[in-house]
Amino acid sequence: MPASGAPSGGVLAAFQRAEDLHALIDTVPDAMVVIDTVGRIISFSKGAERMFGYGEDELLGENVSVLMPSPDREQHDSYLGHYLATGEKRIIGIGRVTTARRRDGTTFPIDLAVGEVELPDGPVFAGFIRDLTESRETERLLHNLQNELAHTSRITSMGTLATSIAHELNQPLTAVTNYMQAARDLLADPTPDNLALAREAMDESAKEALRAGQIVHRLRDFVARGETTREMVSLQRLVKETTALVLLDVSVRNTDFVTRLDPAADTVLVDPVQVQQVLLNIMRNALEAMADMPVRQLAVASVQDAEGMVRVSVSDCGPGIAPEVMAKLFQPFISTKDKGMGLGLSICHTIVTSLGGKIWAEPSELGGTTFHFTLTSGDLERQG
Ligand code: ADP
Repeated sequence: MPASGAPSGGVLAAFQRAEDLHALIDTVPDAMVVIDTVGRIISFSKGAERMFGYGEDELLGENVSVLMPSPDREQHDSYLGHYLATGEKRIIGIGRVTTARRRDGTTFPIDLAVGEVELPDGPVFAGFIRDLTESRETERLLHNLQNELAHTSRITSMGTLATSIAHELNQPLTAVTNYMQAARDLLADPTPDNLALAREAMDESAKEALRAGQIVHRLRDFVARGETTREMVSLQRLVKETTALVLLDVSVRNTDFVTRLDPAADTVLVDPVQVQQVLLNIMRNALEAMADMPVRQLAVASVQDAEGMVRVSVSDCGPGIAPEVMAKLFQPFISTKDKGMGLGLSICHTIVTSLGGKIWAEPSELGGTTFHFTLTSGDLERQG
């Protein structure tokens, strides 16, 4: 039914067609939001109503930024202005995984595709939004993102690393236990021969314990070592992708998520995969810390730091860090979680230090904890 061949029935027919089109679009489960060149919503499909919790009548004429979390919320007008002034396409026709904000303030990961349509009165932009929390494609996208996160020759995730360390450590630790038990039994009957044997068992036990220590060091170095590539990357992009990945976890849906990234300190010179691992771990820790809180707030901010560095801060409103953990926070095997390996932060420390930065934690303004880490700025002028 090519439009060009359709008989023209005047204004009424055009209106009818528009109505039909709207009805058709309303049957699509994904959301469609159409805006004009100043960002005002001119159409909001039924799918969008279901996804965001607003009715179309409430939103017509409103700025589309209400559907976005910070910083897109504040910056969307300037994105649009930039495109209209320069024609440079950052999202139109490209699409990306990003986050959106529902009426109740909760954020969720979406796949966003934006198209431009030239109408007689000027261009309009149509956004097609798929909710990744419910999408069947979630698995596939998650898989793709995780693949991106892990270069093939390297550890695929913190989880895999934890498992492999647990596996490798099991052997020397079992040996230590066996030698010590043998020594204890030999000491029960302290003949000269038995004492000599007990001494030998203890020597062997000490060697195994050292081996266990070496395994930890080797694996930690492995994460931060050699094949890393340093590139100029946008911190905003790294944060967005990591956020989408974190928010895919069902248990964290009701979290108020805010990012406040300094656009003047956006470019960093890092291995993007490693920085995403750091972010992922810190954000997951924050969300785990807030699991039982009635209100969950997670904020990611960045600012220009001294001497060519950018500081990234991740804050939560959780219970704060347990005093017994604080002094040893970045050491391996420190954990207060039932199933925690206590390796995440020690790996973060290794990565950040190997990239020339620092990592530390302090009480946050939100009432919980803020983790800060610094990265080399990609802005060469600032590096002086
Ligand atoms: P794991 O998550 O396996 O326990 P980590 O090294 O990532 O290992 O974290 C070590 C410990 O630090 C955690 O068990 C927890 O007690 C504490 N911790 C980390 N992040 C936070 C946070 N945001 N709020 C409170 N405690 C935290």
